[in-house]
Amino acid sequence: MKDTLKHQGLRNKLVKTIKDKGIKSAAVLQAIGRVPRHLFMDSGFLDHAYVDKAFPIAADQTISQPYTVAFQTELLNVKKGDVILEIGTGSGYQTAILLELGAKVYTIERQQELFRKTSLFLPKIGYRPKKLIFGDGYQGYEEGAPYSGIIVTAGAPMVPNALLSQLAVGGRLVIPVGDDIQIMTLIIRKSETEFEKHEYGEFRFVPLLEDKN
Ligand code: SAH
Repeated sequence: MKDTLKHQGLRNKLVKTIKDKGIKSAAVLQAIGRVPRHLFMDSGFLDHAYVDKAFPIAADQTISQPYTVAFQTELLNVKKGDVILEIGTGSGYQTAILLELGAKVYTIERQQELFRKTSLFLPKIGYRPKKLIFGDGYQGYEEGAPYSGIIVTAGAPMVPNALLSQLAVGGRLVIPVGDDIQIMTLIIRKSETEFEKHEYGEFRFVPLLEDKN
């Protein structure tokens, strides 16, 4: 598990690419520049780690495209110490980005294989989420609520009510909504009862699934 100058060089290029695509947050770009994405992919795929593309990981899932990770993280507007809930741990790459930003991270994964693999892997390279949860993200995670931010990294057919209710007032939910194609959606909780919705462009994610296997 090495991170070399060559990897760092490729990462700097990736940072430039996503900056050119419109990511402005210096903190987010810096986090992308720090997390060794190649370690989150099986070793045969090193060459693919620093191109701005999604890539298959275990259990028919994907590690999100770096631009998408940066876009969602920018919308989340993470500040140091924020408590964040992530739905869809997957490879743990997005989790690592959130940890780089100083967030306390709860993250939920429904695929047992990925949950096990990523639970072992993240601490091995120095990333320690507050809690990795094996479960159904549609339910959120009440024990850690309220959250300053919730990020969903799979395509949701609709916005789950549990996630809205676990958001702190002032908190932000970033969720791609739709079946085949998703609209990136930001929901800000303005008060106990009011939510404000903003929509961004189209993205493509693997689906947020309802049943556990
Ligand atoms: N954040 C991940 C992206 C992984 S792809 C990364 O950076 O690599 C989306 C993930 O969401 C998959 O691992 C999939 O198993 C998971 N997922 C799908 N439906 C889910 C649900 N209902 N609850 C929790 N995780 C879910």
